[in-house]
Amino acid sequence: MSVDILAIAAHPDDVEQTCGGTLIKMVEKGYRAGILDLTAGDMGTRGTPEQRLAEAGEAARVMLVGRRENLHFPDARLENTISARMTLAIKIREFQPRVVILPYWQGRHPDHYRTAELGYEACFLSGLRKLDEYTEPHRPYKIIYSSVYANVTPSFVVDISAQFERRMSALLSYRSQFGAVLAGKELFPDEQEIRERLGAVARFYGNLVGVKYGEPFVVKETMLVEDIVQMGARSI
Ligand SMILES: [Zn+2]
Repeated sequence: MSVDILAIAAHPDDVEQTCGGTLIKMVEKGYRAGILDLTAGDMGTRGTPEQRLAEAGEAARVMLVGRRENLHFPDARLENTISARMTLAIKIREFQPRVVILPYWQGRHPDHYRTAELGYEACFLSGLRKLDEYTEPHRPYKIIYSSVYANVTPSFVVDISAQFERRMSALLSYRSQFGAVLAGKELFPDEQEIRERLGAVARFYGNLVGVKYGEPFVVKETMLVEDIVQMGARSI
């Protein structure tokens, strides 16, 4: 099944915290969305990779996302190797997305910025006819970067006020991460804490554009506007 939008993320539960509301909104508009997680989170303190994969599947259903796959690259030590780029490029050919969502290219966690770099280079490779004889070339039209983890001014914000609760339910599908488990308790916030934290972040970005909840994105290209009368985000 090809998709209109493909979110590529380092870890299961990244999408639920960064661009899940946007995916839900686009599916509600009639687009097909997919998620490709690069690692299964096998270095995580809580839960097993099998649990996280099952939870990721459940979260995808909550977000109305039709296709979610995991490439099982090594967690916490993701590397931009030629084989990783090739594997990802072939997957992009299979998904055939028009739009790819990547994490922002700078950040605290190496897996996140490596995913941005890997994703960008794989989007280029996937357009090369001679890359692989079994799959058709496909180069995504647009790459957008989810910047919620980065302290940068977004190029645009998507209003997710109507999708925020569904996104929160998707995140709470990761019961091994956010449930009442004792192991590593000091590292993992409880449900109320995570609700307040994500709510505050989404309110901050929503406030930038005059809506309740928002998700921020950065694009490298200048944005094209067709109708200045229909532009959103009130000036005064
Ligand atoms: Zn992550």
